[in-house]
Amino acid sequence: MIIQLVKSANDSEKESVNKMLLSMGFSINVIETGDGQYIVSPENKNVDIRRIGNLPGVADVFIVKDQSQLVSRQWKVNNTIIDLGDGVKISRDEFSLMAGPCSIESEEQVEKTASFLAGQGVKIMRGGVFKPRSSPYAFRGLGIEGLKFFHSICRSHGIKIITEVMQVSQIAEMYDYVDVFQVGARNSQNFNLLDALGEVRKPVLVKRGMSGTIEELLSSAEYIFSNGNEKIILCERGIRTYEKAYRNTLDLNAVPLLKEKSHLPVVVDPSHGIGMREHVETMALASVMSGADGILVEIHETPEKAFSDARQTLDYSEAASLFDKARLAYSLNKSFEAGLTNLSIG
Ligand code: PEP
Ligand code: MN
Repeated sequence: MIIQLVKSANDSEKESVNKMLLSMGFSINVIETGDGQYIVSPENKNVDIRRIGNLPGVADVFIVKDQSQLVSRQWKVNNTIIDLGDGVKISRDEFSLMAGPCSIESEEQVEKTASFLAGQGVKIMRGGVFKPRSSPYAFRGLGIEGLKFFHSICRSHGIKIITEVMQVSQIAEMYDYVDVFQVGARNSQNFNLLDALGEVRKPVLVKRGMSGTIEELLSSAEYIFSNGNEKIILCERGIRTYEKAYRNTLDLNAVPLLKEKSHLPVVVDPSHGIGMREHVETMALASVMSGADGILVEIHETPEKAFSDARQTLDYSEAASLFDKARLAYSLNKSFEAGLTNLSIG
């Protein structure tokens, strides 16, 4: 059950709501975000919710059966809109293209990529400076110095940035240089990190863990929301299965299901999802047709020279072609959703 409080609810009103809940046998979790105040009780009880709903300070009471309540669509009818400022939004109402190298490598690389993206009308650049690598001997990123030039060059092109944070201690030093924090697949259930990202006032994109279920991804998002941050984006990036023919199995089943279960935006990373450059475009387009609100793709001027994930990285001309097709696929899919079927193309 979620009790949504009015924005102006004062301490004594909150106290009486808590007392009532306790007297009815509910446990209480008080949550304050930049956008609202909530009390969440995980118990399911058959009670007259008017006893709570009529109390001063209460805006609404919702019975939510889903385990992850705050991220559930069962209480929030309006989809969450992530506003990055300057007109850049990630939401169900527009298509977000996020692209860039796996790793930030040099100022020159960022400059070239950002101007390419700006020319393509892409507003969000990805790039890792703290890289989770399977081998300790592989390139592990330029760290905070890399983030600083990544940020300042992107700002000069009017581009927002998304980058991975790997541990709690990095959040503070990264904070001023980040528009969206990325939680990588390997950290999808790092609950300390998720708790800490719940306390920040910047959006967080959570990737699905390599062996994470849909429920686990939603629970990870619930960690962030329940610690005070409502600005969350869910990302399908492929899961590990018995199949060895490609890097991961991109589970596009997740997209319609996550959109049904949650009010959060859902994006797909087809680059890590399949791991093969020649098939990234196909899977990106399939992602869009499955309803993704955005895609996250790895690109590089010379993919074969990329410091990491070269095998799955697109060059600029492949990226430009993908962006055009993805935009077209998005508007086609929106038309289908709107019930239009007699479309003529070309
Ligand atoms: C990445 O985005 O480069 C990355 C490491 O992704 P993932 O966590 O999905 O493997
Ligand atoms: Mn990568």
